[in-house]
Amino acid sequence: TAAVRRPLVAGNWKMNGLKASIGEIEAIARACDDSISARVDLLICPPATLVALAADSVGTSQLAIGGQDCHVKASGAHTGDVSAEMLADAGATMVIVGHSERRADHNESDAIVRAKAEAAWRSGLTAIVCVGESEAQRKAGEHLDVVGGQVTASIPDGATPTNLVVAYEPIWAIGTGLVPTPEDVAEVHSLVRAVLVERFGEAGQAMRILYGGSVKPDNAAALLGAANVDGALVGGASLKATDFLAIARAC
Ligand code: PGA
Repeated sequence: TAAVRRPLVAGNWKMNGLKASIGEIEAIARACDDSISARVDLLICPPATLVALAADSVGTSQLAIGGQDCHVKASGAHTGDVSAEMLADAGATMVIVGHSERRADHNESDAIVRAKAEAAWRSGLTAIVCVGESEAQRKAGEHLDVVGGQVTASIPDGATPTNLVVAYEPIWAIGTGLVPTPEDVAEVHSLVRAVLVERFGEAGQAMRILYGGSVKPDNAAALLGAANVDGALVGGASLKATDFLAIARAC
């Protein structure tokens, strides 16, 4: 039974963007409502400092605004951290958790990522759980084991097609211009799908699995056309409205 999965194209601005960049988000929101939202969901995750401004600027647009990380707790003595409750209060509806840069820079384990996804759900946010193998793991042929293990350990019980999105982002493809072949992407996405269906049954068929890592306007159609690829998580190319929209239109 083929589940109908509405594609999601998500932009991860990482540590980029000042108030002056809100115009890019407004341009994306306009195009989203004019044409793209009929077929594809769009999301921009600006830095935490811009979430409230971005959400206010897009207003009632179909363009969703998300966070890039959240703390496992809703509030407390955690200087510098941002909670899911704060992101939701600022107007976010989704949050990325377990991005490889968070796993590497902040030692986030699968258990922490799982707790962050649960925190996201407690505040009503959809969690975009990121997984992906390193270059060494790919070369050693361990990518399926690594990704399967991350999916199992990073996704909490209680996942549904609305509260969970999985993003497969091979670390060696992030920001490098290197991309796996569509066949390589399909191999991993099919493994992720199998793990989700094994655990969540029919709901696992309806959960979206995004590909991320050097997605650009010129490779988007090929990557997004691979089996079980339900959209993209876009870094660098999401900073310019024209590039991001070209990727969304290729979807
Ligand atoms: P990139 O980043 O598109 O710049 O490779 C993707 C990501 O890290 O989400």
